[in-house]
Amino acid sequence: MQTKMELPPCDFCNREPVGYFPCDPFEITSFPADINEKPSRFEYDGQWWACTSCKKMVESGNWSALMNRFLRQLTSIRGNIPSEQEGNIRLHTNALWMTFERYRENNFVEVK
Ligand SMILES: [Zn+2]
Repeated sequence: MQTKMELPPCDFCNREPVGYFPCDPFEITSFPADINEKPSRFEYDGQWWACTSCKKMVESGNWSALMNRFLRQLTSIRGNIPSEQEGNIRLHTNALWMTFERYRENNFVEVK
């Protein structure tokens, strides 16, 4: 009998993934809206998990649809996001995804 492998959730919408995009590891710095807070540095590893829908959106470069999907998912977890926070989230997420787009490889690795 085969045991089910635990996979991390889709990096874009948190749903069940079908595989991942290999990507060179990178770091980005995020500047908070509050100037009294320190910028945060985030490191990303080489595997970007994606479900079928997010994979298609990444491959077709449909970032605005992906953003809507991501924000819907975030709202369902956290509740409504105040608009000034949403602007910040969009900005940060967009910067992150554009960096990912630059460093990712084309060969999606299916695991299911
Ligand atoms: Zn997804």
